[in-house]
Amino acid sequence: MLHEVAVPAAWADATEDAPAACDERPDFVRNIVDVMNRQEGDELPVSAFLGYEDGTWPVGITAFEKRGAAIMVPVWDAEKCVQCNKCAFACPHAAIRPRLLSAEEAVAAPASIEHRPCRIQKGFEFHMAISVLDCTGCGVCVGQCPAKEKALTMTKLENVMPEGARKWDYAEKNITYKKPTQGKLNVANSQYLRPLNEFSGACAGCGETPYAKLVTQLFGDRMMLSNSAGCSTVWAAGAPSVSYTTDENGHGPAWGFSLFEDNAEYGFGMFLGVAQIRATLALKMKALLEGGDISAALRSIMEEWLEGKDLGEGTRERAAALTAALDEALAEKDDAELKALREKSDFFVKRSHWIFGGDGWAYDIGYGGL
Ligand code: SF4
Ligand code: SF4
Repeated sequence: MLHEVAVPAAWADATEDAPAACDERPDFVRNIVDVMNRQEGDELPVSAFLGYEDGTWPVGITAFEKRGAAIMVPVWDAEKCVQCNKCAFACPHAAIRPRLLSAEEAVAAPASIEHRPCRIQKGFEFHMAISVLDCTGCGVCVGQCPAKEKALTMTKLENVMPEGARKWDYAEKNITYKKPTQGKLNVANSQYLRPLNEFSGACAGCGETPYAKLVTQLFGDRMMLSNSAGCSTVWAAGAPSVSYTTDENGHGPAWGFSLFEDNAEYGFGMFLGVAQIRATLALKMKALLEGGDISAALRSIMEEWLEGKDLGEGTRERAAALTAALDEALAEKDDAELKALREKSDFFVKRSHWIFGGDGWAYDIGYGGL
């Protein structure tokens, strides 16, 4: 049986340049990403890529897509929620996130940003933010919700728009991400950390992206990641979009991918290269400690850095202290050895190395390189 579907007359005047869902779109997104997403990438002149000719590509692009692909999206009931954060842990797209509001943020928030006192992080209010335009409608979050009466229910996207998009936007712009300080870094507490892999192009309900997302929550600000060609490259960096992103300090995973058969060597090479540079830095510092003319303050900071060189915990603080002490010393006198150390300050932070690949890569072709 065929049914006629009437095409609205207004569609005759439809344009392809629909108003952007995100009001602040960087030039790169407007001039390159949007053009490619309109299937007009072939029209881009080479000159459009000036500034990116070395092959680098800006990250955090998926946040501007706001695809609105879900038919059904979750709605949160603050009364029924037990604040376990299992929904956020399992969400493949980082589209549902528990947020901690300070007292000031709670007072300033509009009534639509519902919140309750946080059970674990005392002194903060708890709000569950949902990006309905990035949600894929998989329902995994609802399935995970252990509350006696589910604290999440699915509703049609049209029932929550445009207010749903505004609420997410408000939370992103006005509520800072806070590191949990009370209790263990368990499932619930891990979800207060900002995911640095968000809104990937993975299929609805993907079982791989929640793990990749979690790794970025725990280590993302100092992560170096080698990825084998496959599903995890497609959802992460299917041109022109990249789902890896940066935190408020501009720190995030450095990502690159290699062919299936070389990924292990590629990631191992990254590790060896960084290890070699850091080992050389340590040797130079030890030589300075033994015979160099350096202040007592710089000496103690170098000793502390050497002691914690391979520890992730506190590495950013030690790196920042060493960089500041070197700057101070160099402001007083021009010293070639101190300058050489300062030039490699990017390597003061202990990096977290990862190699991602699927089972075919791990069991078969790719793993041999290790
Ligand atoms: S429905 Fe799926 S994509 Fe949407 S918030 Fe829940 S788990 Fe995430
Ligand atoms: S899974 Fe349910 S109870 Fe747990 S935080 Fe999410 S909405 Fe609340």
